[in-house]
Amino acid sequence: MSTLTLTPRPRVTDRLATLPVAIIGAGPVGLAAAAHLADRGIAFTVLEAASGPAAAVEKWGHTRLFSAWREVVDPVARRLLEATGWTLPAEGRAPTGSELVDDYLRPLAELPEIAVHIRYGARVTGIAREGMDRTRSADRENTPFLVRTPKGELLARAVLDASGTYDSPNSLLSTGLPTIDDARISHALPDVVGRERDRFAGRHTVVVGAGHSAANTLISLVRLQRDAPGTRITWLIRNASAVRVSSSADDGLVGRAQLGARVDRYVEAGTVEKIDSFEIDRVEALPDGIRLSGTRRGDLATVTADVVVNATGFRPDLAPLREIRTDLDAVVEAPRLLAPLIDPNVHSCGTVEPHGFRELTHPEHGFFVVGMKSYGRAPTFLLATGYEQVRSIAAWLAGDLASASRVELNLPATGVCATDAGGCC
Ligand SMILES: Cc1cc2nc3c(=O)[nH]c(=O)nc-3n(C[C@H](O)[C@H](O)[C@H](O)COP(=O)(O)OP(=O)(O)OC[C@H]3O[C@@H](n4cnc5c(N)ncnc54)[C@H](O)[C@@H]3O)c2cc1C
Repeated sequence: MSTLTLTPRPRVTDRLATLPVAIIGAGPVGLAAAAHLADRGIAFTVLEAASGPAAAVEKWGHTRLFSAWREVVDPVARRLLEATGWTLPAEGRAPTGSELVDDYLRPLAELPEIAVHIRYGARVTGIAREGMDRTRSADRENTPFLVRTPKGELLARAVLDASGTYDSPNSLLSTGLPTIDDARISHALPDVVGRERDRFAGRHTVVVGAGHSAANTLISLVRLQRDAPGTRITWLIRNASAVRVSSSADDGLVGRAQLGARVDRYVEAGTVEKIDSFEIDRVEALPDGIRLSGTRRGDLATVTADVVVNATGFRPDLAPLREIRTDLDAVVEAPRLLAPLIDPNVHSCGTVEPHGFRELTHPEHGFFVVGMKSYGRAPTFLLATGYEQVRSIAAWLAGDLASASRVELNLPATGVCATDAGGCC
């Protein structure tokens, strides 16, 4: 018996066939999903919380991506755009987030075959089966999904949750539990040399986190320090070394490797003070700063700063999925079959096997988490991976099982591989 014979087929009863596929989020992956469904003539509705497309990318718009243009445009979206006279911007250059929105994502969202199917200001707060909570099983697969927003409820034949993780950062605390809110604690990737310059100039900033968001902020702070004397920069990490930031000659994403190399140089030169092995267990708001307390190599330690940048990464918001039968890995909170490919404990490098609907399948037939959110707490997501995910799912929804099962992507090797738990890949 062939694999295709065993492949689960999409359910399309007469009633389900009249309903659209709901896509949650008009970020790069949600819009790519829209392009694939439009291309296959499958009805869809995109529900986007913000008032325009790619709101999360817009928030870090001042930051340059490490991938070049040719790696961040979905192939089907590209074809639809090129039919209107659009051309791919300088394909070997990496865009900033704002350029990605202005020169690709907004034009994509404005294509006539997509624009009329996007509802803005529609934050999804819950998903269920119509008339059924998580416990009801009878005829579940033939029952439409009900997607709730403050503006009303939408019935759908399938749901692709492409809502990202940017709005749900990890905690500063090493326990992961919530801590205080304070205006002096910044979200990752503040616009240090632009809009938010006054917040950082001449101040002491502690950047917490070991990933590329931290590296980007440290580099911007060094730029600021050059013309704002008194700007002090501390980089605080939990582990003995920041493997994801430290440069790796094997990283196929050259821009990303360069980020790491620059931060390494600033640490060596003493421009950035690095404090490693610091486990934060308390965050306090003092009249003159934010105090981080915890332990360092067994001893009590504290650091006080004017501003703290929380670059500890992101986690998926699972609250809207409470009535949906998901199957998530207990560590990474990614779909169970995908998790072993991306768990940062055993596999910190970005070299992830391309994958499609099969790895993203949940017990809830027709429900998929895609894009950044599909990686749960793992930090290595690449847009090309997300585009391959939605290509495969769109093919599956169209009943094109051969295409759904095929892998059509070659990812760059990203050999940032050493972890505390040992090497990988
Ligand atoms: C600074 C930075 C640089 C990066 N650089 C690269 C790079 O060079 N190359 C690369 O391949 N990847 C890169 N990434 C990783 C990744 O590709 C991006 O994070 C990308 O934006 C993920 O796309 P997405 O569509 O999955 O999610 P998002 O871009 O986060 O989009 C999610 C959308 O859903 C909306 N939304 C959220 N919640 C809801 C809700 N409840 N209801 C409705 N809508 C909702 C949001 O408003 C947003 O529009 C980078 C990430 C960051 C942060």
